[in-house]
Order: sequence, then C-alpha cells, then structure tokens
Amino acid sequence: MSSQDVSLKIAVLSMHTCPLAPLGGWETGGMNVYVRELGRALAARGASIDIFTRRQAADVADVVEYAPGARVIHIDAGPHRHVDKYDILDYLPDFACGIQRFRALTGASYDLIHSHYWLSGRLGLLFADRWGVPMVSTFHTLAQLKNRVAETAAEREQAVRFEIERRTMAGSDRIVALTQVDRQQMLRHYGGQAPIVVIPGGVDLERFKPLPRTSARRTLGLPSGRKVLLFVGRIQRLKGLEVLLRAFALLADLDAELLIVGGRPGTTYESREITRLQHLAAKLGVAERTRFVGAVPHEELPTYYSAADVSVMPSSYESFGLVAVESLACGTPVVATRVGGLTSIVRDGETGLLVPWRDAELFAERLRRVLSDSELHGRLATNARESVLGYGWDRIADEHLALYGEVRAQRRATDAVAVRG
Ligand code: UDP
Repeated sequence: MSSQDVSLKIAVLSMHTCPLAPLGGWETGGMNVYVRELGRALAARGASIDIFTRRQAADVADVVEYAPGARVIHIDAGPHRHVDKYDILDYLPDFACGIQRFRALTGASYDLIHSHYWLSGRLGLLFADRWGVPMVSTFHTLAQLKNRVAETAAEREQAVRFEIERRTMAGSDRIVALTQVDRQQMLRHYGGQAPIVVIPGGVDLERFKPLPRTSARRTLGLPSGRKVLLFVGRIQRLKGLEVLLRAFALLADLDAELLIVGGRPGTTYESREITRLQHLAAKLGVAERTRFVGAVPHEELPTYYSAADVSVMPSSYESFGLVAVESLACGTPVVATRVGGLTSIVRDGETGLLVPWRDAELFAERLRRVLSDSELHGRLATNARESVLGYGWDRIADEHLALYGEVRAQRRATDAVAVRG
C-alpha cells in the first residue's frame, strides 16, 4: 500500500442514520456500528474521514471528532428527529446544499466518496460526478431482498428504493458486498453492474472478548444455575422474535430465561411491535421467563454475551449480522436461521447451529440440543472466538484501503487516457 493511500481524504455519506446515534433503536444498529468503526480504523491508519449525516437531534455539535482523524458532520436537512426513510428523500436537496456549504466554509476536499445505504447512493453519484472522484458503495440491505421476506404491506420497500439502488450500482466504481451470499444476491436481483468486492463487517476484538460467566451474571443480576438465551438487535419483524418466543415456549421444561436486548420505543412502529411481542409472550405463557431489557449501550454488551449460554438470531433476513460475530468473539455459540450473512458467520455444528427460517419447532429443537448437550455446547464455545479472529476492524480497514487504492489507480489511468485522447 503506498503512503498516498493512507493519507486519503474520504467523504463518507451516511445520510440516513448517524454513526454516533444510540444503538438498538428502530433504525440504529449494524450500519451505525459499521460506519463508525470502519471510520475509526481507517483514521487510525492515517486516512482522514468526514462522515456526513443528517442532523436528527438539536443538541449535537455541527462537527464531532469522535476519534483522531474521524469526524461526523451533522447537516441540517429536515426536522431534528427521526424521519421515515422515504420522507428523507424530500430533504436530499437540503442535505446536498449542506455538504457543499461545509466544503465552501472549510475548504475541505476529498479523494473518494464511500456511500452507505441507498439514500446516500443517490447523492454520492451526484457528488462523484461534480467533484471528479471515484465512488464506492455499500448497501447494507437491499429492497429486493427485504421484499422477499416482508410479512406485512408496511414492511415492503417501495419501487423508488429499488430504482435508486439499481442506479447507484450502475454508477459506482465498486460495490462492497458483506458476504459472498450478499454478492450473489446482488448479481441475481440487480444484474452484473459495477464490480462487487466482498469485505465483511467487523468486530472490536479487544472489547468483545470472553469475560468470566459468573461475574458477568452477577453484574446483570442473573442466577448462576439457569440457562440464559440472549437476543440482541433492533425490534423489527424481520428479526424473527415471534418465532423465537414460540420456540422458547416449547422449552418450558428447561430452567431457562430469555433476554431480549434492543428497542428504544421512540417511534410508533417500534412501541407497537414491542407491545405485540409482550402480549404474545404472555399468551404463550413465557412472559415470566422473558425479559425485555431494552437497548443496551454497545460497550456493555460483552457482559451480556458472556453471561449467556447461547445467542439466538431467528431473523428472516440478515445481510450480515454483527451480533453473531460479537457473540462468537465473546465465546458464546449462536443458534441462527440459515439466511443471508448468518450462513457465512456461523459454522453449523462448529460454532453454532443453523436452522431453516420461520420454523419455531426446529428452532426449539436446536436450542434444546445446545442447552442440554454439554459436550456439544463446550465444543461450539471453544471454537467460537477463534472463528472470528479475522473480523477485526483493522483488517477490514486494510481491505478497504486496498480497494480505495485500486479504484483511484483505475480512475487515474482512465483520466490519463481521456487526456491523451
Ligand atoms: N446493538 C447495541 N445495543 C442494542 C442493540 C443492538 O449496541 O441494544 C448493536 C449490536 O451490538 C450490533 C448492532 O447493534 O453491533 C446490530 O447489528 P446487526 O448487524 O446484528 O443487525 P442490524 O442492525 O444491521 O440489522
């Protein structure tokens, strides 16, 4: 890697959600962690990172340098609160003007754009063209794939999103897929457009590491003798909590407790979903053994993972699944549905068990196996951490730097040909 690569100035577009926002809310999860931690790791390697996001709270500073060389720039575009993603489209012009104003006031310039999610892709294409720089795009989730598993009309993504995704794919210099499965699905549903490289999400291996179970349980006030199942994630239907509660109800004979971490009932959708699940837990007779913990700060999660016997991910869609990597990094096996990114993170029979999606009985059967067969549990737990040692953010940042270098070299070559022509 040349020294020029590490002194790169990168404009990161994360219009939809702020990487510094509290996690575990309706739309604050993996993508926020990914943008924040990748930025931090790239900056630690000498790149300078400006992450542009829409201001969602009145009390945040315009510019926050959250790590040396990594800044979040809050742009005024629309109300200072959460706004539905489709309504954000109305604020794209304000957001674009805000970025241009910031550049004019500070003299900032960039070598490359990395856009996250479809909403940013729309603007990224515009700026890439105007600034004459290459653009790399990461989508995190895709409309076509979400629609395949949507259970209600409200969950279905609109045609405008698909169209923007399609155009962004066609106009980007490179697309980052999070797994091979993600890449294949992009090719299948969006056609071969820009070259797609696979770089997974990461984990802070220093922070997410096994802690002694007894003290972790003591910290959380959990009994030492009982089995503990842990769910961590945003409380959305596609996370499969309904299947989980039904599966848990089939394990009534086990002395077990289910912790559901996540949920900041700020939006109507979210409050409604939490209430629906609480009613379902009561109906299934598992309310007393199920604890809706609410959102927990990221840095406290190693205690939860270490206290648990098993982490559960009953999702019907995961483009990646940072929670699975975090749990394994803490030495806790994962029982997950065989969907999307989870199939490449969880090694069936080695670090966890994979289950066909939306099948509560099978999910319960796999949970029973992990919780009752101590030899199996011991083996999965022993393999867990080692299986994710390649997911440290440093390594993920290096892979991005190599990609950025390649894209820039290609652009310089094309520009040179254009000048000669
Ligand atoms: N998370 C958190 N606190 C919570 C719930 C979730 O810090 O209360 C974090 C979790 O540790 C993980 C991310 O949010 O890093 C969720 O990422 P994942 O890829 O599993 O799911 P996504 O949000 O992308 O659907």
